[in-house]
Amino acid sequence: MGNTVVSERLHKFCSVFTSEIYGIYLALTKMDSFNKNFIVYTDAKSAVEALKKINTLSHPLALKCAEMHKYLTEKGLSIAFCWIPGHAGISGNEKADQASKTASLILENFVPLGDARRAVGILILKKWQSIWDEQQVNKLHEFYPSVRHVIISNLYRRQDVILTRLRIGHTRLTHKHLLCSESPPMCSRCQSILSVKHILIECPNFNIFRLNRFGRNITIRDLLGENPHLNLFLFLKDIGFDKLI
Ligand SMILES: [Zn+2]
Repeated sequence: MGNTVVSERLHKFCSVFTSEIYGIYLALTKMDSFNKNFIVYTDAKSAVEALKKINTLSHPLALKCAEMHKYLTEKGLSIAFCWIPGHAGISGNEKADQASKTASLILENFVPLGDARRAVGILILKKWQSIWDEQQVNKLHEFYPSVRHVIISNLYRRQDVILTRLRIGHTRLTHKHLLCSESPPMCSRCQSILSVKHILIECPNFNIFRLNRFGRNITIRDLLGENPHLNLFLFLKDIGFDKLI
């Protein structure tokens, strides 16, 4: 074995953990033709931990390592695993790091199911995000710029309903006319169509209330974005809009 350096490149879908544990598996497979005692030095702490707790749900390569280890120890080899901190100036470790950067030959093209699922999930999210990024005119885009975003609301049910209606811009005050076949309501001061945006951030009728609750000019995203403004519901009450949503 001497100073032999072996390096392989795995499929790009493989996780870091898979690569680390594959390195250990590769080292074990190289021991078969020797009748010596070995110590496997690795900076992959999570891989060593995984090998200590092998069970039926373990990573498929951890199971293969366990199988190989059993086979080798039954042959009389003694194998120990030792974790070494990465980037600690240990020459063997640096040599391994260097070899990993130059590995180009894909010898093993397997991908564990968990890694494949994760990689496909990431690709789908990326695709979904790029489609969503093109929807700049969609009125929900500014409130939900990331498709990854998951809102865990800690609002009361009624507040949650109000927030959703404001975000989609549909409220009883601004949209009741559709049900009654009437003309849309107009702002008596500005002579413009009464929309949620107009009421919340544009209409000068409510400037004094805005200043009182927000202390500055505010954008619709500041008010209704991923983290709605803390004074939003107080402001709605001040201007009497809370009962008309
Ligand atoms: Zn107005």
